[in-house]
Amino acid sequence: MNKKRVYIIGAGYAGIKALTQLAKIDNIELFLLDKNSYHYLQTDVYDYLAGMVNLADVSVDLYTLCHSFERNITFLQENVLRVDFEKNSIITEHTRYTYDYLILSSGAQTMLLDSIEGLKDNFHGIKSLGNALAFKQRFEQNIFNKLQSEGKCSRESTYNIVIAGAGLSGVEIAAQMADYAKEFYKDAGYLCSNVDITLINSKKMPLPSNSSFMQKQAAKRLRQLGVKMITDSHVTKVEPKSVTLNHADKIDMDFLIWTAGIMPSKLTNALDVKKSKRGQILVDSFYRLIDYNNVFAIGDNAQLFNPSTNEMLPPTAQTAELAASYVASNINNIIAGKELVKQSIKPRGFLASLGGRYGAAELFESIKLSGFIAYFLKKSVEKNYKNPLRKKCKEGYQNIMNQK
Ligand SMILES: Cc1cc2nc3c(=O)[nH]c(=O)nc-3n(C[C@H](O)[C@H](O)[C@H](O)COP(=O)(O)OP(=O)(O)OC[C@H]3O[C@@H](n4cnc5c(N)ncnc54)[C@H](O)[C@@H]3O)c2cc1C
Repeated sequence: MNKKRVYIIGAGYAGIKALTQLAKIDNIELFLLDKNSYHYLQTDVYDYLAGMVNLADVSVDLYTLCHSFERNITFLQENVLRVDFEKNSIITEHTRYTYDYLILSSGAQTMLLDSIEGLKDNFHGIKSLGNALAFKQRFEQNIFNKLQSEGKCSRESTYNIVIAGAGLSGVEIAAQMADYAKEFYKDAGYLCSNVDITLINSKKMPLPSNSSFMQKQAAKRLRQLGVKMITDSHVTKVEPKSVTLNHADKIDMDFLIWTAGIMPSKLTNALDVKKSKRGQILVDSFYRLIDYNNVFAIGDNAQLFNPSTNEMLPPTAQTAELAASYVASNINNIIAGKELVKQSIKPRGFLASLGGRYGAAELFESIKLSGFIAYFLKKSVEKNYKNPLRKKCKEGYQNIMNQK
């Protein structure tokens, strides 16, 4: 009997989890496609931006990872342009692949509104490793320029970092940058220490999609770190040195970080399938496409809900991983000729890193923590995710070397 060919498009949190689960099934051929050669650990990027960790700490090599499994898994570094669902065909820049089962997990991209004049020319994003690297290099260059002018610098010379968007990524980056700037100048005894960080929030409180406990913890910590919070406001115009808000206030800006929303990937935009108003792929309760039951969509590119309660799920790495395990177990069922099984998909909680060794956490709806212990938990979750993958990469590296 021919083995069924299962393709995964996108090696993010969803794709990687699906891969590691499907790798346990014997009688399939498994293929992973990504336009990059690495898995980008977005959830850890705030440490990278603040110079706490290096590139290798926020990326996982996909070639060595795919070589680490006992069975054959093919990694294809390909930019997928579209999918012909009628012909079960994936079209990339270079070729076509034919699948029996397909998992769409191409994630999301930064949402840049055309209506905001000057935004596209004057922002920094963090949704790709390339952008995060450019951001870090530019930020360090700017800090260096400020130090270079130290002799002339008075206490009035301020360096303004503006962060637009007070969701998890905006809050974590604001807190970590504020802590970094404070420690950097303090440690080195520099005079030129005026780095202002402003967080623009379209709502009253940071982390608007989270509980009031998480919101209050974030607001308290950001205040403590000296982050200026502008609430109930949104950006209407961006110029090289300023940001204009809807109530016509103009803020000086040396560096703009844009974290004000995400939209599905370019690939998802190009797919001719049923989508939500926000452009996410609509799925049934087994996360299959509405019109194609051999195609699954998971992670940020799909509108996911708990199949048991129909409650909407937030677009997070945690949701992506839970959805991936669910889909992998049902692909296993299909291959084994069994019925699909419905499961409850429910996030276990929420963790935020809030600058330095400080965090906030809400777990299983009842455990609420803040301070070092919450930070420690967040770091443990990150390590528990990253370390096994790194271990596998080392095994894969060894396997490749042994073949030579
Ligand atoms: C700063 C920051 C902090 C965050 N913190 C947390 C957190 O603490 N906890 C949490 O749960 N979530 C967090 N998130 C959200 C989390 O990172 C996302 O929800 C998660 O990455 C979604 O996983 P995914 O697999 O759907 O997509 P992604 O991880 O974005 O992966 C998508 C993959 O698809 C690939 N791809 C895209 N288009 C194509 C194409 N055309 N062809 C081939 N490959 C393609 C990409 O290269 C990428 O590898 C954070 C996000 C950010 C930006």
